Amino acid sequence: MTESNFFLADETATLNLGRQLAALLTPGLVIFLHGDLGAGKTTLVRGVLRGLHYDGRVKSPTYTLVESYQASSLYLYHFDLYRFNDEREWLDAGFNELFNAHNVCLVEWPERAGNLLPSADVDIQLAAQEEGRSVTIASTKIALNKLQAT
Ligand code: ADP
Ligand code: MG
Repeated sequence: MTESNFFLADETATLNLGRQLAALLTPGLVIFLHGDLGAGKTTLVRGVLRGLHYDGRVKSPTYTLVESYQASSLYLYHFDLYRFNDEREWLDAGFNELFNAHNVCLVEWPERAGNLLPSADVDIQLAAQEEGRSVTIASTKIALNKLQAT
C-alpha cells in the first residue's frame, strides 16, 4: 500500500490531480472518495473525466445515485451515496453488478452503503484546509509516485 498527501490550493489544482489520476486508471478499479459536503469529491471526478477527454457535463449524481460515462475506452460509474438509504433499491437496481472487472467505479459517500460495497483499491480523503483542500490518496493497486499537486 502506498499513500500520498497533497495540498490543493484551488479548484484548478483539484481538477489537475483528477487529470493525473485518469492516466492511472485500469478496468475494475474501485475508488472511494471521502470528505464532507463541498470537500471537492465531485470536482476531482470531473478532473478524472476531463483527463479521459470527456467533454460533456459532469453532474453530481446526488439524486440519481449514479451517472455513467464512457471515455478513452473505459466504462466509468460515478456514485454519490449521500442520500442512499435503501438496501433493497441498491440490490433491485443491480448496482452490485456494476462493480466488476470491466468498470471503473468512483464512489462518493461509500460509508453510507455499509458493507454492500466491495473494498476500495484507491481510497481518497479530501478536507478543507485554509482556502484550499488537503487530499490523501492511498492505494494497493496503482502507483502514486508520479502524482503531484500543481
Ligand atoms: P463535494 O463533491 O465533495 O461535495 P464539490 O466537488 O462539489 O464537493 O466541490 C465543492 C466546491 O469546492 C466547488 O465550488 C469547487 O469549486 C470547490 N473546490 C474544489 N477543489 C477546491 C480546492 N482545492 N480549493 C478550493 N475550492 C475547491
Ligand atoms: Mg459531490
